[in-house]
Amino acid sequence: MSKLERFLRQCRVTKGTSFRLKDHSPGDTAHLDADKTKARALLQRDIERLAALQDKLYAQDRWAILLIFQAMDAAGKDGTIKHVMSGVNPQGCQVYSFKVPSAEDLDHDFLWRSAKCLPERGRIGVFNRSYYEEVLVVRVHPELLERQEIPPRLVTKDVWNDRYESIADFERHLARNGTLVLKFFLNVSRKEQKRRFFERLDLPDKNWKFSEADAKEREHWKEYMRAYEDMIRATATPHAPWYVVPADNKWFTHLVVGAAIIDAMENLALQYPKVDGAKKAELAAAREILEGE
Ligand code: AMP
Ligand code: MG
Repeated sequence: MSKLERFLRQCRVTKGTSFRLKDHSPGDTAHLDADKTKARALLQRDIERLAALQDKLYAQDRWAILLIFQAMDAAGKDGTIKHVMSGVNPQGCQVYSFKVPSAEDLDHDFLWRSAKCLPERGRIGVFNRSYYEEVLVVRVHPELLERQEIPPRLVTKDVWNDRYESIADFERHLARNGTLVLKFFLNVSRKEQKRRFFERLDLPDKNWKFSEADAKEREHWKEYMRAYEDMIRATATPHAPWYVVPADNKWFTHLVVGAAIIDAMENLALQYPKVDGAKKAELAAAREILEGE
């Protein structure tokens, strides 16, 4: 087993009971940093393997893949999606970024807007943020929950547990119907976030990515970590695992996410559709038409 495969086992959470965030270091690189050129080559190889797997996924048209990315600001969600998915055919991939909910979104249950964006069979769907914001930012800022206009008697002290349960049920439903759900928490340290924020301030090309609100949100770091930990505990399952991915080193984040997707897709034993007798006869007839022209 390679260092990376071994590391994948460590960061994959399939059962939340004993999960503790502090057992996962944002700066971990599984001792691969000694040879960065090799790490780059590994990523390149994985990008190609992912493209080949996606080709089969699309041809077979049975499974769908849903990749969910959650993280603090500047943890590298955008960059990870950009790099890891760089080899896949855009036709077989759908990316959605979930921002502050619209008035129409708020007029529905909290899963509604995500349900509309689920990947079709044969496709890879990427959620850049997701319904998990509903137990993260909404939990850290309870005033957001008030804006949701849920009948007050339904908003009890169990509201977060109720939401975890709804999410777990939703993901079980997806799994039972052929959607493979993989969830990535890009685990950046508070210190590295600060460094990246300064970079966004210092480099004109990165200014657009930064706002005062981002700097303010940092003040709630502890509450966010608590919310992430509870969320992972409550929603990690074998059919929809969380991957707690070290995010202080971007190259390593990309490597781990790529390897995790490949590992899970390989388990599906994807196959190009079998050509049966009737199809063979059809192809032979098509050849005859072409040859007769
Ligand atoms: P960004 O993608 O970083 O440019 O910003 C998106 C913003 O939308 C973040 O501040 C999220 O916390 C916020 N957001 C996403 N989903 C929700 C949600 N369901 N409720 C409230 N805020 C959300
Ligand atoms: Mg932002």
